[in-house]
Amino acid sequence: MICEHYMNNQTQPFFFPMNNVIQDYAWGSSTSIESLFGIENPSHKPQAELWMGAHPNGCSSATFNDESILLSDLINQDKASFLSSVTAETFGELPYLFKVLAAEKALSIQVHPNKQQAVDGYNKEEQAGIPLTAFNRNYKDNNHKPELVYALTDYQAMNGFRDFNESISLFKSMNLKSITHFVSAFEEQPNSMGLNVFFKNILSLSDDKKETAINELMAYAKVQCDSPLFALLIDLEIQYPNDIGLFTPLMLNVITLKPGQAMYLHACTPHAYIKGTGLEIMANSDNVLRAGLTPKYMDIDELMACTLFNVTPFDSLLMTPEVIAGGVNYPIPVDDFNFSVLEMVNALPLNTTSAEVLFAINSDMTVTHISGQTVIVKKGHSVFIPAYTGQYILTSSGKVARAYN
Ligand SMILES: [Zn+2]
Repeated sequence: MICEHYMNNQTQPFFFPMNNVIQDYAWGSSTSIESLFGIENPSHKPQAELWMGAHPNGCSSATFNDESILLSDLINQDKASFLSSVTAETFGELPYLFKVLAAEKALSIQVHPNKQQAVDGYNKEEQAGIPLTAFNRNYKDNNHKPELVYALTDYQAMNGFRDFNESISLFKSMNLKSITHFVSAFEEQPNSMGLNVFFKNILSLSDDKKETAINELMAYAKVQCDSPLFALLIDLEIQYPNDIGLFTPLMLNVITLKPGQAMYLHACTPHAYIKGTGLEIMANSDNVLRAGLTPKYMDIDELMACTLFNVTPFDSLLMTPEVIAGGVNYPIPVDDFNFSVLEMVNALPLNTTSAEVLFAINSDMTVTHISGQTVIVKKGHSVFIPAYTGQYILTSSGKVARAYN
């Protein structure tokens, strides 16, 4: 193994250029990652997600002196050295997965449980003997799944519930006969409880009632197709015909991030990525409760139990980054990861307190250690930097994303 050989001697490696797995999920763009980063796509399959991390479903390789090793195997050689002893004790693994995500079609509407709900839900399904791979399995692990998305192109998404009265007036103006009684009930109770009941009523529509409601909705959308919101519904219906999730843009905030803007996805808050390419960093978890725009399993009761029916004000959606030396840092309310973007830095000293992944967004970057080791990383590529590296020097004429914890 390469690193046992180098560890604890003079040629200990400080930088590991990464080879990353690209996932070809059907919703992915087949051109965006290629055109932004020059990562070739000869098969013209979707390049949906590029994964930077140690996740078993798509583990990066780390290289040193032309030798290559799975990042998970490298870290497992000495977790305390690679991750820091605190991270090794707290998480037992690299606590985050860092991605480039390129959506051509919308992803499902999702709610992620909080940490306690994940622990309880996982234990319940384990005790019930539901196999991890079963269609109706909600909880794949016992972790929460906070996420941050940072736009590289215009990036359209839904996040959080609209103001109660805004939703009510949208539904009233549509005047869809089949759901009038639901709308009236919400209007009488324009609060979290009213939204809770309304959301459940809509999502629980089935068979003929569901089809009728969606037909009425889409007939209205086609008349109103000059409005961006209803034009979106028409696009989404082509992707997900007869899907109850077609109602969610009327209940959730719809936002288009500009390149360089970022958004945090809180636990218990419905969200969906609609279209665009961005960086995403998340905790290590696959716990997703779905609320539409998907052929996958939807457990309405569990979804309701894990959703907070609070309004997310539209003007609170964008994160406000803090200015730091060389760039900006996005304040994250959990311990699983940190995220900064550095720009046009010349010999910026950085200190490691955890394992880091640096991704070169739009220009090459150079990292140098006091020992003299230096690595040049091309645009669209990344380097793994162990916690033990201590201090390194970063130079780039463009933007560099820094993931750590
Ligand atoms: Zn999510």
